[in-house]
Amino acid sequence: MIKQTCILAATLLLCSVAIAQTSGTERLKVDATDAPRNILHATLTVPVSPGPLTLVYPKWLPGNHRPTGPIQNFTGLHFFVGGKELEWQRDLEDMYAFHLVVPAGASELQASYDTITYYGKSSLASSKVLDLVWNQVVLYPKDTKTDDVRVSASVRLPEGWKFGTALNTAQQSGDSAEFQTVSLTTLVDSPLIAGQFFREVQITPPGEPISHVIDMVGESEEAIEITDKDIASLKQLVAQTGKLFGARHYTKYHFLLTLGDQTAHHGLEHHESNDSGAVEDMFSNNGAHDLEADLLPHEFFHSWNGKYRRPAGLATPNYQVPMHGDLLWVYEGLTDYYGNILAARTGLRSPDEFRENLAYTAAMLDHRAGRTWRPLQDTATSVQSLFAAQPEWTNWRRSADYYPEGYLIWLEVDSLMRQKSNGQKSLNDFCHLFYGGKSGPPMVVPYKFDDIVTALNQVVPYDWGKLLRERLDSKAPQAPKGGITNDGWKLIYNDQKNTTMEASEKRSNNIDLSFSLGFIATKEGELRDVIPGSPAYAAGLGPGMKLIAVNGRKWSKDIIRTALKSGIHNQQPLSLLAENGEYYKTYTVNYHEGERYPHLVREDGQPDVLDEVIKPE
Ligand SMILES: [Zn+2]
Repeated sequence: MIKQTCILAATLLLCSVAIAQTSGTERLKVDATDAPRNILHATLTVPVSPGPLTLVYPKWLPGNHRPTGPIQNFTGLHFFVGGKELEWQRDLEDMYAFHLVVPAGASELQASYDTITYYGKSSLASSKVLDLVWNQVVLYPKDTKTDDVRVSASVRLPEGWKFGTALNTAQQSGDSAEFQTVSLTTLVDSPLIAGQFFREVQITPPGEPISHVIDMVGESEEAIEITDKDIASLKQLVAQTGKLFGARHYTKYHFLLTLGDQTAHHGLEHHESNDSGAVEDMFSNNGAHDLEADLLPHEFFHSWNGKYRRPAGLATPNYQVPMHGDLLWVYEGLTDYYGNILAARTGLRSPDEFRENLAYTAAMLDHRAGRTWRPLQDTATSVQSLFAAQPEWTNWRRSADYYPEGYLIWLEVDSLMRQKSNGQKSLNDFCHLFYGGKSGPPMVVPYKFDDIVTALNQVVPYDWGKLLRERLDSKAPQAPKGGITNDGWKLIYNDQKNTTMEASEKRSNNIDLSFSLGFIATKEGELRDVIPGSPAYAAGLGPGMKLIAVNGRKWSKDIIRTALKSGIHNQQPLSLLAENGEYYKTYTVNYHEGERYPHLVREDGQPDVLDEVIKPE
């Protein structure tokens, strides 16, 4: 009856009341025993009233900021009432909506379906691990607030697998677990990882009342052998965030880490956990460790910046309402800055590694040709379309630059705060003010651009609004490097390899000559990208071509490196034979400066503020 009012009135408020009053709790059973085949089976019982009903599949995913709910993977769908199958129809415009008519007398509806967990070349499961993200296995009534939909979820895992999640377990027997009833918001915010090889390590530092745990699953027993040094760093990470913010907006926290090369490498933030995937040898390989060092600090920082304080345009009432990405340079940019700083403050990355990483970030953005047509702001605003692009022409198109360039902008803001307050204040004080407050269970406090400016001004008065808008709207060819120079360092290039780039080359096997010839190529010579304005671009080379020979000799990474070296003392231009589809052509590149890689060196006579920035609080 009230439900009917809800459909007719079609307002969110009435709907939420209606659902609460029909004591509607969805019961979700996920059978994950087929996870190694990358398919999940689920049944869902939904409280209903007779009449038209539209159920929706989550489309706009928190933390993802995009309409990427994998509806293409949602299969095997059937609806039943009292054992009798109901017909359904997909909406003609909204691929995520399913229309039904509930027969008279019915109060419950059963749905059964499967979800395929492959995405292109990546997946969320393998023979040994599963990353269960609940938004892939739920439906809910259209136009309801996800805070108001209650879900009682359970899972059955492959035999012998163990799991980690921030959800509270109500009951567990054998390979099955039932979780305490939560809102759909909390369920989707609380993924579960499971695997044959599982390890749980307490990382709550002494004196900290809230439990912090790292749950690991991996492709092998060796993968989850975290070192004592890393455990100490993660305890320090928890302690450092306590000092930085002075409050926690969760009741417990789980670092959910999947270590494997067959499943997705990613990081997704939640209020009480983060769902991160990294390479299998992250703990045992120095290069991999360096590249991943900011992953967990980054995702953890998001519990404050992104989950608790959230841009108003991303704080939506359910997963069907479009999100606005315009403040992602705060959401992701500030998180990128602190993810890197916290990696250094906690010893996950050495000061040298931190500076090499920063040098690479600054150099990469300094060589972004696309910045002359597309301001940083537009990379955030267009988040919905950015990730659909191929790697070719990334430099000209720009990518999710609100991460790394946000990093540079916040480094500059931090340096100015320290300068203007004679070292008395810093961005740490802003974090304490803006993200701290009172500790308690998860909640969302939205903000707008002006709220950021006001809070910065409360810490150190300055025209922050003007500075930020200039940086965000700039089409200058150079990246904003004021933070580096203000902090007593400068960006230089020489023929010594940058350690971040070296680790990256070892992993990808690509060769990155962005700062010399101006291209990135695979080991086989396929040009992934060519930088407009670079020597390679001037010679006519483009991404998609394949380099066959260098000065008449068969292409290899060693051969191009040798040719670059001899080119320094040689007047002859470089001759590159390239294949473009079915055609071959020789390209002449006039370049004689050898390999160039970025580094930071101290600016004479200036204090080393960067060293202060990465000191533990
Ligand atoms: Zn992030």
